[in-house]
Amino acid sequence: MKPRERFLRALSLKKVDRPPVLSPNQTATVEQMDALGIYFPDAYSDPRKMAALASAAWEQVGLEGVGVPFCQTVEAEVFGLEVKWGRRKTDIPEAPFRGYSTPDGVEVPENFLERGRIPVVLEAIEILKERYGDELPILGHVTGAFSLAAHLANMEKILKMSIKNPTLVKEFTNLGLEAIAEYANAMLERGADAIVIENMFASVDIMGVKGYVNFAQPFDRELISRIKGPTILHICGDGTGIIEEMLATGASCLSIDSKTDAKQAVSASRGKAAIMGNIDTVYALAFGTPEEVVAETRRAIETGIDIIAPGCALSPLTPNRNLRAMVETVKSLSHDSEG
Ligand SMILES: [Zn+2]
Repeated sequence: MKPRERFLRALSLKKVDRPPVLSPNQTATVEQMDALGIYFPDAYSDPRKMAALASAAWEQVGLEGVGVPFCQTVEAEVFGLEVKWGRRKTDIPEAPFRGYSTPDGVEVPENFLERGRIPVVLEAIEILKERYGDELPILGHVTGAFSLAAHLANMEKILKMSIKNPTLVKEFTNLGLEAIAEYANAMLERGADAIVIENMFASVDIMGVKGYVNFAQPFDRELISRIKGPTILHICGDGTGIIEEMLATGASCLSIDSKTDAKQAVSASRGKAAIMGNIDTVYALAFGTPEEVVAETRRAIETGIDIIAPGCALSPLTPNRNLRAMVETVKSLSHDSEG
């Protein structure tokens, strides 16, 4: 079974020979960048370089899928935020909060797909599709509407508003919804197999369960209903308390972080959505030993997770040997069970 077929079957809850192993979020690391001689910001201005850096996940490490872009600043930039490139050319770019107090002053950009780095991302997807065809799945990463709202205001303001003026938070979140849906559908048209909605600021660790339910979930649900293809909903942090709410968004797959109770997520999602995750990205993948990664990967497989993956975006400091340990563990354990 080719990785793309295995992944698409797993996403639609069909039987597979073993779980796929790939990353729903960014995969670029210092080691991969050094091997290619491709760094930031070049990997954002040249679609060929973007595609090459994304390909390193498969070519150098064996992750069974590739995805772009590498950060959550692409939409924010189009909405007028300044992008801060890191001090080192291997740093993932960030977009400092803009600090709008009200959504009234925010201009929703016209011709969204032609702005900022969006044409580069879309062309990179096309290049990846040409390169990998039916072999590998291609993921398009978009920012969740709530996380974009947090960028436009700032997280502290959003938290205060959520108590004093909840309607305003919803207006902020609604601002980006249509543009994000349009961007996601363009990714699918250009060759992406699934869309990952990265909603890092909707984390329960920041917003609490009620905060997610009231201010992020309705927009995740609405966004997913507008996306014309499979969706993976990624919420950072401990999602144990919001699994039912995440399932109610209609996402094809939930990408859960290492803090989330995987057993509970797997049993709650049976027959409703695939579960993807939840290998610890910090203590295991970035700073652990390959042995620790093997143990962590075995744990994830034993809990019955459908798609084995890092629990969040990879740190650029993650060594290739740890990623290979994750990939090889998935492949070898399934041989054991087949034998
Ligand atoms: Zn995350």
